[in-house]
Amino acid sequence: MPFADILGQERAKRILGRALAENKLPHAYLFYGAEGLGRFKTALTLAQALMCEQGGGDACGACSACTRVGREGHPDVIAVRPESRAGTKEWVVDLKLGTIRIEQVREFQRWIAVRAFEGGWKVGIFEGADRMNQAASNALLKTLEEPPPASLLILISPTRSRLLPTIVSRCQPVHFVPLPRETLETFLAKRGDSPKELLPLVSALSGGRPGKAVQMDLEWVSGVRREWIDRLQSFLISGWGGGLVSFAEDLSRSDRLLDVLDLFEGWYRDVLVCRVSGPERVMNRDYMEEISAAAREQDPMGTISRIDSIRRARREILGAYNLNKQMVMECLLLTLSGSDA
Ligand SMILES: [Zn+2]
Repeated sequence: MPFADILGQERAKRILGRALAENKLPHAYLFYGAEGLGRFKTALTLAQALMCEQGGGDACGACSACTRVGREGHPDVIAVRPESRAGTKEWVVDLKLGTIRIEQVREFQRWIAVRAFEGGWKVGIFEGADRMNQAASNALLKTLEEPPPASLLILISPTRSRLLPTIVSRCQPVHFVPLPRETLETFLAKRGDSPKELLPLVSALSGGRPGKAVQMDLEWVSGVRREWIDRLQSFLISGWGGGLVSFAEDLSRSDRLLDVLDLFEGWYRDVLVCRVSGPERVMNRDYMEEISAAAREQDPMGTISRIDSIRRARREILGAYNLNKQMVMECLLLTLSGSDA
């Protein structure tokens, strides 16, 4: 697809467009930013733009080269992804928990060392580059230090800090940012698959990430969301006596705990927004009364510290494999139910 079809990311598109127009591509890019912002799509578009039979520094999206790159079937474009083999003998792609191993990097290096099959560029895309283990990172560093001619490496990671500094310093960074709420809502309205009244909520819950917004489970947003928010409300009203342990237990067992934490964070953000700039920008519109009441009662600093504690809990859950989720949730609920003093 042409660059113009990528939603938002104007700055990233400008950087890449200029590099293509001036024929000054670096040997490696680091596309960093949250999942669902179009990092991989942009990497494929850049590869298409390099191979497109129409030329002109963009992807036509329709020629044979663009089509094959688009469906990851072009011999000169390869995507390397984290893999795991939990429960199976085979290594399978696992973007969430997998690892990019040194064997994968070595195989990639054998591939990129050979001249392009179709005579042009070779493009290697490392999706989940932050999940490279130490050995794989060190091996890849060699390619970054001595890149083969007419080769381009695109590393994709949520942040720069999750990669070795020596790797980061050899890549040109391109930052992917969340879309403004209005842009995302307009896009979702055009697609027409979310009911209009849910658009502000879907847009906000997705954190400005179109990839996440279009995958959002609307039934969950309109149904299960209410159950969790109601439960939080009744817990807050009844205080510690409101079944802290059993609430924490249910939370820690939820297979959508991170989504529930997003909901809780959204709730407190609404309370803050309602207090600071009025009810127009509240996303949980169906809880307007409760949010207005909380906004009147809560000290904004207390609300901010609650948002911080939810974010901290999320980071702890994402950062550790063997974590006692129940304990993290108990701590969080204690903080949320604490007084503002
Ligand atoms: Zn094309």
